[in-house]
Amino acid sequence: MAAFIESGWEYLITHFSEFQLASVGTFLLHESVFFLSGLPFMVLERAGFFSKYKIQSKSNTFDAQGRCVLRLMFYHICVNLPVMLASYPVFKRMGLRTTLPLPPWDVVLTQILFYFILEDFLFYWGHRVLHTKWLYKHVHSVHHEYATPFGLTSEYAHPAEILFLGFATILGPALTGPHLFTLWLWMVLRVLETVEAHCGYQFPWSLSHYIPLYGGSHFHDYHHRVLYTKSGNYSSTFTYMDWLYGTDKGYWKVKALEGDAKQS
Ligand SMILES: [Zn+2]
Ligand SMILES: [Zn+2]
Repeated sequence: MAAFIESGWEYLITHFSEFQLASVGTFLLHESVFFLSGLPFMVLERAGFFSKYKIQSKSNTFDAQGRCVLRLMFYHICVNLPVMLASYPVFKRMGLRTTLPLPPWDVVLTQILFYFILEDFLFYWGHRVLHTKWLYKHVHSVHHEYATPFGLTSEYAHPAEILFLGFATILGPALTGPHLFTLWLWMVLRVLETVEAHCGYQFPWSLSHYIPLYGGSHFHDYHHRVLYTKSGNYSSTFTYMDWLYGTDKGYWKVKALEGDAKQS
């Protein structure tokens, strides 16, 4: 497996420059993973499949889904792509490299775990601030336009919020000066995590059933369906920050009531 990945990587670095891989390559990888993982949930919602695993009984209209996709494509091309092009020199200064051999798996996985923890911490506080009156009204309300989220709404946000989220995502890699392979793997896992958190479905195989302290779709769906002053559940990946600062109390209360209602 490692040899297969290394030969694929060798192909990339002999056919493309480091700049092309780090900017356009990162953009294309992000778009592919984001839309390929998010679009199936839109289809499920339209077709009504797996409805017993749907968290909310409400569904989005076709127009609402389409508006989300068009706006996302516009923001990805006009905000994400220029940021990726412009941030290459910064990453280069911080030690980004594309050379072989690829870093050992223990280094890759330790760095990615660090990125997840740092991003979750920054996201928690940034997200809490975004729920103050002025910032919510002028910035964060865009992300909350969809009270019944579906996978692609994970990146549906005001450009200022896209920049903040981007900062929280790339600070870890910038600090550790990673190999581009590590950066790509981190980005893929982070996109899959946030798409799942917004997917609107809680399956028996959802990661939150198996990974301790992992938030997942049920945890974040609650954040979208209640009034912004009461939402809580501000973390992106884990649950411990909300537990530590008591911002998950409403969620656990509602979850307990839902459990009681099911049993009676
Ligand atoms: Zn929010
Ligand atoms: Zn959200």
